[in-house]
Amino acid sequence: MTAAYITTTIPYVNARPHIGHALELVQADVLARYRRVRGDDVRFQSGTDDNSLKNVLAAEAAGVGVREFVDRNARAFLALGGALSLSVDDFIRTSHDPRHRPGVERFWRACADDLYQKRYEGLYCTGCEQFYTPAELRDGRCPEHDTEPQQVSEENWFFRLSRYAGPLREAISTGRLRIEPAGRRNEVLAFIDAGLADFSVSRPATRADGWGIPVPGDPGQVIYVWFDALCNYVTALDYPDEGEAFRRWWLGDGDRIHLLGKGVLRFHAVYWPAMLLSSGLPLPTAVFVHDYLTAGGRKISKSAAVR
Ligand SMILES: [Zn+2]
Repeated sequence: MTAAYITTTIPYVNARPHIGHALELVQADVLARYRRVRGDDVRFQSGTDDNSLKNVLAAEAAGVGVREFVDRNARAFLALGGALSLSVDDFIRTSHDPRHRPGVERFWRACADDLYQKRYEGLYCTGCEQFYTPAELRDGRCPEHDTEPQQVSEENWFFRLSRYAGPLREAISTGRLRIEPAGRRNEVLAFIDAGLADFSVSRPATRADGWGIPVPGDPGQVIYVWFDALCNYVTALDYPDEGEAFRRWWLGDGDRIHLLGKGVLRFHAVYWPAMLLSSGLPLPTAVFVHDYLTAGGRKISKSAAVR
């Protein structure tokens, strides 16, 4: 019997779910059910990303407290699991789960050799929670959101991603970390070969309105939401105490499979594996990437209303 740990991404809760979320949840559910029928030992996990700056901005726009706003939308995501009859075994909420914050803090410390501070200036899309280089923009606008990014200048913590190009390339090209379909694997390899720049992993607490997990030893900064969110794949497995679930599902010799949309491929196939290498943990065994549901040629999203 093979163990299979299967995860969906954890969406921002800046709005209620839409059918695009159902697509990923159902895909993951099909895989989980198939593996159970085959006789495998399966853990299927989903959840919500509560700590995003996007949630803070959406709550402000709605005139509601951040906590109340986040709780309300997270409940809608949780309810979706019931409506779709998903066979989910665990659902993690990054602002609520008592396992999450200590896990993220521990992960941060485990990566300490690769973390350093510097002043950064760049173009930031709050929709993506990501910095862009001018060359990555389309007519000066975010390729995902078609909005103009903000010019941001701040002192941040950085992760030494540049160190991991060789090990990542090796893991992906040998299939130790499978990326499916092949076109997405080639996209990741091309991204690595173009040169990996260190990435920012914290934000000033003031800009995040105090929302999020403070950087251990530097409370003026909160941990970048992506660093925080990606950790959910191990924090939900009692990583902070290296408990039984962590040893069984992450350190064991079974499959560790992430399902995700193409827009977050880089985070799951480059940043997250590099963070795991830095912290001395095993990599996922597979990353399955889906496209988007579209309407009228545009991605269905929480921010782009469909008429
Ligand atoms: Zn964007």
